[in-house]
Amino acid sequence: MATETEEYFGQAPLPGVQYPLTVHYCGNCSMPIEFCEFCPSYEKCKAWLEQNLPDVFSQLNTKDGGGGDGEDAEDEKKRQKRGGKGMVRLKKKDDTPKKVVVFLSPRGKKKTTVIMGLKTFDLDLKACSKTLGQKFACGCSVTGPDEIVLQGDIKEDVIDFILDKWPQIDDDSIEDGGERKH
Ligand SMILES: [Zn+2]
Repeated sequence: MATETEEYFGQAPLPGVQYPLTVHYCGNCSMPIEFCEFCPSYEKCKAWLEQNLPDVFSQLNTKDGGGGDGEDAEDEKKRQKRGGKGMVRLKKKDDTPKKVVVFLSPRGKKKTTVIMGLKTFDLDLKACSKTLGQKFACGCSVTGPDEIVLQGDIKEDVIDFILDKWPQIDDDSIEDGGERKH
């Protein structure tokens, strides 16, 4: 019986495992390479692996989630070259959709005209409110972080005026929001 068992193990190595098992030691941190990711200079470890054990290195990358990680690292490098974190923030800011919505809001028997989104064009709301109030000779006030309310049913006129006054806001980036509860 004992002999059979020995033979069994001898003849059937686990699939996918190569004998003899070898432990790779990292040339950078001298730890077994499984521990490299805990090493403070992991980037250097990876560089060493790429140079000396390219097979292991590519497996490592696969485990980490494939090419995605590599690309991220590349992107990160490029970004840093282009001017550091400031650039990242700028990029985010540009991603905010620039959109102005003008809609009517019923207030009892009267109506108010609400403008939202001027700030996405980096406009100063207080200045805008003043300009609009003068133009339409009506009550006009900043009522939220990106919201101006004008007294009266003047949505169409307001849209025309905005397009005229602030040319950076074009036809496609202003929306007639109709009438809605506010
Ligand atoms: Zn290492």
